[in-house]
Amino acid sequence: MTEAATTPRTGKRVLLAKPRGYCAGVDRAVQTVEEALKLYGAPIYVRKQIVHNKHVVQTLEAQGAIFVEENEEVPEGATVIFSAHGVAPEVYEQARERSLRAIDATCPLVTKVHQEARRFAAEDYDILLIGHEGHEEVVGTAGEAPAHIQLVDGPDGVDKISVRDPNKVVWLSQTTLSVDETLETVARLKQRLPLLQSPPSDDICYATSNRQHVVKEIAPDCDVVIVVGSRNSSNSVRLVEVALDAGARAGHLVDFAHEIDDAWLADARTVGVTSGASVPDELVQQVLARLAERGFTDVDEITTANERLTFSLPQELKRDMKAAARG
Ligand code: SF4
Repeated sequence: MTEAATTPRTGKRVLLAKPRGYCAGVDRAVQTVEEALKLYGAPIYVRKQIVHNKHVVQTLEAQGAIFVEENEEVPEGATVIFSAHGVAPEVYEQARERSLRAIDATCPLVTKVHQEARRFAAEDYDILLIGHEGHEEVVGTAGEAPAHIQLVDGPDGVDKISVRDPNKVVWLSQTTLSVDETLETVARLKQRLPLLQSPPSDDICYATSNRQHVVKEIAPDCDVVIVVGSRNSSNSVRLVEVALDAGARAGHLVDFAHEIDDAWLADARTVGVTSGASVPDELVQQVLARLAERGFTDVDEITTANERLTFSLPQELKRDMKAAARG
């Protein structure tokens, strides 16, 4: 029985999920932009949203970051940071051609999937990449070995794939997928390809699975689950789906506290609150404050894991920071 289930259902209460919010990769990416602004001065160009969160992007813009879609929008010789989602090798090449000072804020756990893709492609495997079509991370990973990689966009994508040799096929995945849906996709792939190999270690990252796990714990006790996160944040959108699948009677994604509709709370006694991996906790605190104003003052934090992982800043930035410190 969960801690949530043992709490008497008197009054209005909030079940606050932990872990929630910033993961190690997002923290590192945001710090990379902040440190680069301090070191080189504004403007600093960032290719794509550094992480998929409106508030984070707006805050960094106010500090002097300029977000662009492609390298060609960056003036020659300027500094560009690549986002946490990773980029295809051709993006580094374009940066070199434009003499850009490129800083790579790709999450090391995404880089790990890139390395797997390169390794299996070098061994001439067909690679089935489970992920969402068009998502930046998938575009970046697929760019490592386009001739070897096919995208499988969920269980319904399984029938579309065709492989050269069914004895030499491996699946990899985007880091921010639904754990359960991915297992379903893999099971369907294995029905077609019994010798399908699995990645050497989980591609769905610790932060994604931990956030989904705690939401599954609280959801059955919740009348509504509010997930703080942006619509283009894959892991945030997945949290709403996981909450609903796990028994929450309703689930909503909001960027900011003021987006909470009072109608969602009208008949609710228990509200679950969590946030995606790209969301600073101040936004969650604002949601809690709004809920408290509406009578949800009793907050139980439900913890299913403690996260201690941190990643160091990109080498190229650390090198310049050290040089600057030496004067
Ligand atoms: S969600 Fe996972 S893969 Fe993405 S930045 Fe965070 S730790 Fe890295």
